[in-house]
Amino acid sequence: MKSDIVIIGGGASGLMAAIGAALQLNQTENGGTVTVLEKMPKAGRKIMVTGKGRCNFTNVKDWSAFSEHIRTNTNFVSPAFHNLTPEDLVAFFKSNGLPSEIERGDRAYPKSRKSGDVVDALVRTATMHGVKIVTGCEVRSVEASPKGFKLECIKTTVKEFKFKPSETKVEHLDYFASKLIVATGGLSYPGSGSTGDGYVFAEQFGHKIETLFPSLTALVPAGYKSDKSPLVEEMKMAFRGPRNKFGERPRKEKTIKPLPDSYPKLKGHIERVTPVSKFGSLLEGNTLENVQMTLYIDGNEAQTEFGDIEFTDGGLEGPLGFMVSRKAVWAIMNDSKVSVVIDMKPAVELSQLDDDIHNRWKEVQEDPRSAGAPFQKLFRILLGKLIPWDLTLGFLDSNPNVSVDTLASALKNWKMDIEGFVGFERAVVTAGGISTDEIVAKTLESKKQPGLYFTGEVLDMDCDTGGYNLQACFATGFLAGQSAAKEISTQQ
Ligand SMILES: Cc1cc2nc3c(=O)[nH]c(=O)nc-3n(C[C@H](O)[C@H](O)[C@H](O)COP(=O)(O)OP(=O)(O)OC[C@H]3O[C@@H](n4cnc5c(N)ncnc54)[C@H](O)[C@@H]3O)c2cc1C
Repeated sequence: MKSDIVIIGGGASGLMAAIGAALQLNQTENGGTVTVLEKMPKAGRKIMVTGKGRCNFTNVKDWSAFSEHIRTNTNFVSPAFHNLTPEDLVAFFKSNGLPSEIERGDRAYPKSRKSGDVVDALVRTATMHGVKIVTGCEVRSVEASPKGFKLECIKTTVKEFKFKPSETKVEHLDYFASKLIVATGGLSYPGSGSTGDGYVFAEQFGHKIETLFPSLTALVPAGYKSDKSPLVEEMKMAFRGPRNKFGERPRKEKTIKPLPDSYPKLKGHIERVTPVSKFGSLLEGNTLENVQMTLYIDGNEAQTEFGDIEFTDGGLEGPLGFMVSRKAVWAIMNDSKVSVVIDMKPAVELSQLDDDIHNRWKEVQEDPRSAGAPFQKLFRILLGKLIPWDLTLGFLDSNPNVSVDTLASALKNWKMDIEGFVGFERAVVTAGGISTDEIVAKTLESKKQPGLYFTGEVLDMDCDTGGYNLQACFATGFLAGQSAAKEISTQQ
């Protein structure tokens, strides 16, 4: 099979590369062909899970504010960003039948609130401009020759029948292309198809891969995923709270598979499927809003952020957990000691909080319903007036020696040592990747192999949450597609 431009990977970046290439080729007299090879049965699998199923597809900040959310190689992303700005992307989707709305923090979502509509718009637009999307087609090897590239692929087609078992057909296909765009994504969420194949292709052409590690991922506090015997048992005896009669939450069955053996083994990685301990289960399911979290690396303050924290089956997540995860993961992988300190009352001074606590304690003690109640029960009632009730046992387990006099300080300095992190199996993004030093930022072409382009998450390029990652993937994809197509036009 021949195609002028072949794109490996039908994710955000690959589909946008195809659209950029087709639009550019269609402007020329001779035109040209564009093919996307996607190994999954459908294109855009990862887009489907973005933004909790709503797809926060860009962030409409201007470059100076946007670039503060790019964690590596900001200057490298600049030409692509300016070639397809967030406003351009919003207009692109609108003109292709997908209006959007802008939410808190300049985040853009499709108005329909469905990530599937983003995939449909991309696939429809690409197809309308003549792009061929071949699904179920995994590229196994790539070879370069003076004429271009030869790709060996395995195409799997599954036919479903109503009354008999499905049939699977496996074919070996060769593709020939004069320009090749690698848009295979990173290592995160392997179930979506991104399993790092692009790094292998890149290395083969002499490209350097910067260390790969998960970012925007859950941090696991010490003891969260392994059992310890806490003071909580005592507290539970003193107070029969809501939930079940033991004060515990029913466990949900998880379907996340462990990572394949081919994945790099990272120091500090704790598989998401590892069960939550008793301590973890006391925290899991709780959200802390408008708190401050400071990350410490080897005892030194490394990052302070303000916002919300979610305690999940993975550990510390939510905007704050994710924001500090990049630095924390890197530090843990490099043998540093990592801890976080949560200030649950950042807007209140310590002395004011202390006064407030003592006043409330007086009220609790003087309440006629408190008569004869044990100290633990009354203390938990006091605590429940200051933090979410469901979090009280977990907080007490973490701060076993806290008293009325030290409570203010404990609430403003809830320290947790971090023993590890959830890995690529559930990380939002892969940090590290193909070194941008060896890629031309204005075209996305390899400096090592003419006609070869890299785009999207496979590059050493990662951002914060908030639509920044998809914008970077769309923009680099579009520029790579246009650049490859321009080269074809000039060669014709
Ligand atoms: C849960 C989750 C939520 C997220 N939410 C957001 C969000 O709301 N906003 C945001 O900006 N970012 C978000 N992200 C990040 C964002 O989705 C990714 O950065 C982006 O989708 C990466 O795009 P990509 O095209 O580079 O790679 P991918 O989307 O990973 O696409 C790569 C494609 O290549 C295919 N492929 C790989 N190898 C081969 C091969 N050998 N042959 C053929 N095909 C191959 C894969 O099957 C895959 O379809 C989220 C990520 C996750 C995991």
